[in-house]
Amino acid sequence: MADKRTYADRREELIRAVAKRRRKIKTLAIEYKGGACQVCGYHKYQGALDLHHANGKKEFGIGDKGYTRSWEKVKAELDKCVLVRANCHREIEGGVTQLSAERRIEKRGEFGETL
Ligand SMILES: [Zn+2]
Repeated sequence: MADKRTYADRREELIRAVAKRRRKIKTLAIEYKGGACQVCGYHKYQGALDLHHANGKKEFGIGDKGYTRSWEKVKAELDKCVLVRANCHREIEGGVTQLSAERRIEKRGEFGETL
């Protein structure tokens, strides 16, 4: 029984430590990505900012496993992401908002356009 309690305490402690680390890494990540939404420039509240994986389906595990990784790994991942406000993120996902230059370059390659 004593073991169980110790385990629970340790678990609580761990959860708190992980949460603290996540917040810190999120702050670093947001700074690293320029601190503002890359679509509209929003920067009021970091909790409203998401990381969108620019080149595929895979989303950065925000507030998830993603933030328990080492900063070097996070940074490598961040290089493939764009920082966007949650609202803008939804719009990108929904195809209503186009992402910056990167996407257009891709399209140009695809269709041979000079736009
Ligand atoms: Zn935005």
